[in-house]
Amino acid sequence: MKKISVVVPVYNEEKGICHFLSKDLIPELNRLEDKYNFELILVNDGSSDNTLTILQSFINDNKKTLNSPIKLVAFARNFGKEIALSAGIKEATGDAVLTIDADGQQPPKEIHKFIESWENGNEIIVGVRDHFTKHGFIPRLGSKMFYKLFRIMGNKDTVPGSTDFRLMDREVVDEYNKFTEHNRITRGLIDWMGYKKEYINYVYGNRFAGKPSYTFKKLFKLAIDSFVSMSDTPLVIFGYLGSLISIFSALLGLFIIINQYVLGDPLRLYWNGAVQMTVFITFLIGLVMISQYVTALYISHIHSETQNRPLYIISKKNSKNLKK
Ligand code: UDP
Ligand code: MG
Repeated sequence: MKKISVVVPVYNEEKGICHFLSKDLIPELNRLEDKYNFELILVNDGSSDNTLTILQSFINDNKKTLNSPIKLVAFARNFGKEIALSAGIKEATGDAVLTIDADGQQPPKEIHKFIESWENGNEIIVGVRDHFTKHGFIPRLGSKMFYKLFRIMGNKDTVPGSTDFRLMDREVVDEYNKFTEHNRITRGLIDWMGYKKEYINYVYGNRFAGKPSYTFKKLFKLAIDSFVSMSDTPLVIFGYLGSLISIFSALLGLFIIINQYVLGDPLRLYWNGAVQMTVFITFLIGLVMISQYVTALYISHIHSETQNRPLYIISKKNSKNLKK
């Protein structure tokens, strides 16, 4: 029987975690247990409330009643969801790994769809949440802008609304485990890898309890991290701007010289020294920005070298007769 590992990152979820595990996730896994073995991996991301104790006693109390073994990875401090996911994925031994939030917003009753899609030969199955119905105006706008920018910056593979509610084939997991970059955004990396994907829409529920720990500040950092780690557009964008400024002011300068000194100002503009100086300085500012751009190019190369990503990802399923 195939085994599926279920990874759940947990941070300060003392109010809802027991309910989520015993009323939501585990019953759903039990339903699927005649066809699959499961392994549950809980990652306590250095919670500052009672989550750790609750998880420990949950595992102790249910040792005999559970069919699926439960592993608990306890971080020594809060490292953030992205790292928690990576730790859980590394610990997984299943033929596929499913990641799901601990707050009930990603409904376990959809899990069977992910598994079916995997059985149909898809290697990455991505949960796409519905159109942000349950959020306020500002988060909705922020999220929309994030995906727009993310795509503009060259991450065309990322579908808006795609979440960490995902299932990955073992082959994908093994490749994912090779990544060494520290500032990682799991979704972005998985999308970057390629492989055969399918998207499954689901309704993003309400939290069982507690508050989302992603404050605006954390989300902002996450957005910046994803831009910086997945694209070098932020580095080079000022270079483009500088080029535009320089070209524009050079043309304007040329116009001034010809109009004033060659043709004798037939347009009667009477542009004085201050105007000429401004145009000249603007031109120089553009040049400075271009030179920064050149530096940025080198930095962006260093950046991609230090990320030390695998050079390429091979699809073992589609290749033939490779050496082991
Ligand atoms: N989480 C985590 N570490 C953190 C923040 C959150 O492991 O530093 C977990 C959290 O317990 C939940 C999931 O990541 O299972 C999603 O977090 P949250 O609900 O705060 O985010 P949102 O639903 O807004 O994406
Ligand atoms: Mg949530």
